[in-house]
This record gives sequence, structure tokens and C-alpha cells, in this order.
Amino acid sequence: MDEHTLREKARSVLHNGKLPNRRPDRTWGGPGVGAACAICDLPVARDQMEFEIQFVRDGDSPGLDKYHVHIRCFAAWELERKRDEH
Ligand SMILES: [Zn+2]
Repeated sequence: MDEHTLREKARSVLHNGKLPNRRPDRTWGGPGVGAACAICDLPVARDQMEFEIQFVRDGDSPGLDKYHVHIRCFAAWELERKRDEH
């Protein structure tokens, strides 16, 4: 997937609220486990690297939201997220 497409995916994730629009509370790097990337929807294969990002959720149903993302997708998402911060 090229950089342009990746940025578009990251932007749509930010705008449709699929991922919280903030810095993750925890980020774990490691090899993929075959889970779908929350940003590009493609599985992170076992021979690729991923981040597992975690967001602490409070309010009515406290808990931990976890997402798997490719390293590249995470980088694109961070760039887009920071561009939105003013
Ligand atoms: Zn991805």
C-alpha cells in the first residue's frame, strides 16, 4: 500500500471514530499475530511487525480497548492525528 493511500486510511479512521483521537495509553511492539489492522483492515501477518495500542476507557463501562496496527499504519495515523491538533 502506498503512502498516499495509507494517509487516506489514517484520516478516515480519525474522522469515523474507529480509533480514539488521542495518544494511546500503551503501545506494545512485536511480531504480528494475524489480527486485522484497525487502520488499513489488512491482517498483520506473522512475518510483519505490529503495534498493539491500548486505550483506557472510563465512563459507563470502564475497560481497556486494544487494537492491532501495522507499524507503518501507526506512523501514518500519528502524523495525521498530530496534523489535526491545534
Ligand atoms: Zn495496517
